[in-house]
Amino acid sequence: MIELSGIPVYKGIEIAPVLLHQEVELIINTTPIEKQQIDDTLHRFESIHNKAIRELEALKDKAEAAGQGEAAEIFGAHLMMADDPMLNGKIRELIMKKLYSLEQAIDETKKEIMGMFLSIEDDYLKARVADVEDVANRFLKLALGIETKGFEEINEEVILVAKDLKPSEASGLTKFIKGILLEEGSQTSHVAIMAKAKGIPAIVGLSGILAQVQNGDQIILDSIQNKVLVHPPEDELLHYRQQRDQLLAKRQKLDAIKGTEAITKDGRHIKLYGNIGTSAEAEYVANYGGKGVGLFRTEFLYMNSKHFPTEEEQFKEYKKAVEQGLEDVIIRTLDIGGDKHLPYYEFKEEENPFLGFRALRFTLANTQIFKTQLRAILRASAFGKASIMFPMVSSLEEVRKAKELLEICKEELRKEQLGFDPGLCTGIMIEIPSAVIIADLLIEEVDFFSIGTNDLCQYTLAVDRMNKDVAYLYQPLHPGILRLIKQTVDAAHAVNKEVGICGEMAGDAVNALALIGLGIDELSMSPAVIPEIKALIRQTSYEELKTLADRILNCKTTDDIKTILNQEVEKYDH
Ligand code: PEP
Ligand code: MG
Repeated sequence: MIELSGIPVYKGIEIAPVLLHQEVELIINTTPIEKQQIDDTLHRFESIHNKAIRELEALKDKAEAAGQGEAAEIFGAHLMMADDPMLNGKIRELIMKKLYSLEQAIDETKKEIMGMFLSIEDDYLKARVADVEDVANRFLKLALGIETKGFEEINEEVILVAKDLKPSEASGLTKFIKGILLEEGSQTSHVAIMAKAKGIPAIVGLSGILAQVQNGDQIILDSIQNKVLVHPPEDELLHYRQQRDQLLAKRQKLDAIKGTEAITKDGRHIKLYGNIGTSAEAEYVANYGGKGVGLFRTEFLYMNSKHFPTEEEQFKEYKKAVEQGLEDVIIRTLDIGGDKHLPYYEFKEEENPFLGFRALRFTLANTQIFKTQLRAILRASAFGKASIMFPMVSSLEEVRKAKELLEICKEELRKEQLGFDPGLCTGIMIEIPSAVIIADLLIEEVDFFSIGTNDLCQYTLAVDRMNKDVAYLYQPLHPGILRLIKQTVDAAHAVNKEVGICGEMAGDAVNALALIGLGIDELSMSPAVIPEIKALIRQTSYEELKTLADRILNCKTTDDIKTILNQEVEKYDH
């Protein structure tokens, strides 16, 4: 048996066979074929075309049988595209007239049709680009003999093992993926955040795991004790099956408090909200007993598209989220750059991408892209409670510019007689130290603050949030971070405005005790951890937590702070 450990993300225990996930490179053979090979090549195309159709029909039927309407629709669109005369005719023409190899003919056709659709000023056709790419890639993989499964094609329980997952891949995780083990990544990498959002136990930063496992190996993932056991003996399996069942029973018990309020014993209400990456997850928040969305990371919408999503596409997505009837859905404007890229936009190489052209800096420089999003959010606000939040604010000027654009969008919508909520609140993320230092000035401009501790820690402690070698220095309970949080709360409360936390710190029981004591009004976390934090809040006293916060603010080291909080959390059933 092999035992490994890394950085645990969402806590849980799972036992399942390994599925290795490796990115495949599509290597295109550009050597021309001989004239006498034309017929053979056309026959090969015919045969992979038929195989692709059979695969897509099977996927569509399976999605329909499972009641997955959206997936069935996508496969239906792919089926139509796979039979499209333009796509197929062009591939045949390139083989016959230009003597292209089958792979090259498919690849060239893909590029040409995608380019053509992208240049058309029609939202519907633009959206078809994704279908062209997916179908052409299916043809290509079949032509190259590459067997890969998209996550939607996995239909038995597995533990996914990979070097890393792209944020766009992570947002497509399905219920059959019981656990995730990655060689790379950190607690606050976006893959880790998505795993938590979906309640999938995961361990990241597992150096060398790919070399230690093979497809089908039985594996135990225990992210509570930070252990991965490969080829476990029968007695370990038995022990872990029992542990897993107990954990499940505990989670079911927490279900019972779903409908209750997140209120301390002495009556302080805490807004317990969820972080989401797609509109569909707003439903998870409600299901887990959360009252609102404290952070809608809209970048996943952009990353999963093949072009900048249109106003209409975004409007539909935001509308779906606000229609869940939650008390608020805080929609954060595009936070791209850093580790998050777009397949259709070339970012310049940067020495320090996390200190570079990202988030608000990007949208303020690309006002058309920004306005499209602001208009979509505004329009969605006519259908349910929504708020807007700007990420990565470092100065007052940035907030003023963003607000000016928001006002221009409101004016446009009024003229076009398109509705929006005139009372829509505007907030900013506090995730850069300069924003904390001028919090008293920034709060004059906005309705609320939400502290993004993932980045605030990265920028304050000068620790790359993605780098596992310095992960030991990434300490949200560092005395410096606690002081910054206190300073932010004081600035907002001085003018009766609220402060939330939407960084990963909020979803940890030990941290939550400190944050509530420091006066935080709203905690926003991965939906799956809401019940656990709610159960904890209901056992605490705000007055006692305020005293606890005073004690930890007087500590000189992170270790001292952790010792006090670890003792405190033991008092509660959690
Ligand atoms: C944060 O920085 O804490 C945050 C919530 O934003 P993101 O993790 O998306 O950068
Ligand atoms: Mg951030």
